[in-house]
Amino acid sequence: MSEIRIPILDLKPEIDELRPELLAAIERVLDRTDFIMGEDVGAFEKEVAEYLGVKHAIGVNSGTDALVIALRALDIGPGDEVITTPFTFFATAESISMVGAKPVFVDIDLNTLNMDVGGIEAAITGRTKAIMPVHLYGRPVDMGRVMALAEQHGLKVVEDCAQSFGARWQGQQTGTVGHMGAYSFFPSKNLGAYGDGGLIATDDDALADTARMLRVHGSRKKYHNETVGYNSRLDTMQAAILRVKLPHMDRANAHRRAVAERYNAAFADMSGLVTPEAVEGHSFHQYTLRVLDGRRDELQAALAEQGIGTMIYYPIPQDQLPIYKGQYPNYPHSEQAAQQALSLPMGHKLSEADQAEVIRAVREFFGA
Ligand SMILES: *Cc1c(COP(=O)(O)O)cnc(C)c1O
Repeated sequence: MSEIRIPILDLKPEIDELRPELLAAIERVLDRTDFIMGEDVGAFEKEVAEYLGVKHAIGVNSGTDALVIALRALDIGPGDEVITTPFTFFATAESISMVGAKPVFVDIDLNTLNMDVGGIEAAITGRTKAIMPVHLYGRPVDMGRVMALAEQHGLKVVEDCAQSFGARWQGQQTGTVGHMGAYSFFPSKNLGAYGDGGLIATDDDALADTARMLRVHGSRKKYHNETVGYNSRLDTMQAAILRVKLPHMDRANAHRRAVAERYNAAFADMSGLVTPEAVEGHSFHQYTLRVLDGRRDELQAALAEQGIGTMIYYPIPQDQLPIYKGQYPNYPHSEQAAQQALSLPMGHKLSEADQAEVIRAVREFFGA
């Protein structure tokens, strides 16, 4: 395999562009030494709440913790079921299992690669407590139908927005439509920290209060622990970095969208591929094709041969993972997606020249 010249994601150009501001922000934290729950945490929470258009934003240690703490705040635990998608990163289902509840999977729609909203109703039982839609690759789920079903059946909705920071559903930020939204600031996400980080968003005062209590060892008042919680604060250093990056978010997502539209135009005439629809509000965390005729791995190898990095998100549906295997029926669309999905280079700073290389290599592979 040749050396990767065009990685699937390159974080360096953005760091180079923002370096002076980033270093100044880090230095301010060093000078204040307020490393835990410092000034930048509160300031970031205020700024990000304003950006999202939500009443409460609560910084936590990771996207996974954001999901877990949201479920705990909603009092979801052993004996409860949470409906979600099998075609996602493990942390989605893991968070449900972590609180002792059972993930119940609804197969995906191959056009959106998101949970097929039309399949949710049939999965609801007397034990169902919540629905956890995942806005996979940054494509917003049809939240109107999810919320209508939730209301009808008295369910809560926790949006997994780990891949959809800045994505909008009908003009509204993903993560602010359901009862709670959980975001990840893992470095490769659209709003990435330079370490782990996450966020919970909610308009509900009581849920926000409980989530804040859970993130600091289950205490509202220091040394007055009420329940078993978590040590899950957003680092001040990461909050300071995120404050530098947040104002650039919409410009960055607009760049991603332009990249996606160029890919789509370049591949429009190719019958061996299915391109992702550039629907309104999509934040293109990933640009993910479906490669038909069983040629996905072959295309990936051909691109690697030319120094082009790609990834398979995700090769194994959740229900087929060793932890859950044998406990669920088949989800044929998810299995198909796991065989066909291939994510191409994408990012805030991907250049037109590098993208043209990727396009040329893909077209060449198909003899186009
Ligand atoms: C990244 C991711 C998470 C977990 O976020 P971390 O910050 O890495 O804990 C959860 N769900 C999805 C869909 C993700 O992509």
